Amino acid sequence: MKIVKTVAEVREQVRAWRAEGLTVGLVPTMGYLHEGHASLIDASVRDNDRTVVSDFVNPMQFGPTEDLETYPRDLDHDAALVEAHGGDLIFNPEPGEMYHEGFSSFVDMTVLTQELCGLSRPVHFRGVCTVVSKLFNIVTPDRAYFGKKDAQQLAVIKHMVDDLNMPLEIIGCPIIREDDGLAKSSRNTYLSAEERQAALILSKSIKLGMELVKKGETDSSKITGEMTKLIESEPLAKIDYVKLVDLATMQQIPALDRPALCAIAVYIGKTRLIDNFFTEDV
Ligand code: AMP
Repeated sequence: MKIVKTVAEVREQVRAWRAEGLTVGLVPTMGYLHEGHASLIDASVRDNDRTVVSDFVNPMQFGPTEDLETYPRDLDHDAALVEAHGGDLIFNPEPGEMYHEGFSSFVDMTVLTQELCGLSRPVHFRGVCTVVSKLFNIVTPDRAYFGKKDAQQLAVIKHMVDDLNMPLEIIGCPIIREDDGLAKSSRNTYLSAEERQAALILSKSIKLGMELVKKGETDSSKITGEMTKLIESEPLAKIDYVKLVDLATMQQIPALDRPALCAIAVYIGKTRLIDNFFTEDV
């Protein structure tokens, strides 16, 4: 397993693999890897001859008041995890390697990004689409792996690849959770012991929503209303959104009459956490 810092080194390695006729999978991450990331690496190792993991805290997808400076980083830990899961290369560039002076080209999207997280994080998806496009151009993977944990991001990337005829396949992977239900996230490290306990309200409300869908409830406002009531019972929780949206458009729907996503974003103290379920997975 190799760690490289430059675009040129990634290109050289991928060129050598291609010359041998090998396929390449890409797992884009912001590092501080956990079992959620590991599940994407496992899927890539299963499907491809070689796996590249990008490990880059992308400044462009953070808003001015967000946690860019405090975002956790630990390259040694990440390297051990990638190696243990059979990854072949970590691309860990400095911001200047990705965004040279005078950088001024962006990939943006007018639909899908105006809902859910796009409302509270207005520059986020432009940063995500731009960096992911760059990574696709640098690594030229056959397949790229994204978690359903970031369901809107997965939908946005799939839409971008389709719109721009990018020649690769996007694979969505299930949410990996702690034993008590909390979705694994690098941001969970921000939580105090008390907040960590309070954060369980996210997965509990997701479970409640799934149970209602399983029982046959199709009225969106009934489902989100019950979930909201439960989250509001936790004093440390402050809701950003609890929504049921059309999976294709990310627009809210009054009834569950098509493939839908139930997505929530909740502040636990200062930490903003997200969780979701796809109705097709219930
Ligand atoms: P991040 O490093 O948080 O930007 O995440 C990198 C990738 O890992 C994204 O595609 C995430 O959706 C995915 N991911 C993060 N947490 C999880 C999780 N708990 N389960 C599955 N995938 C995850």
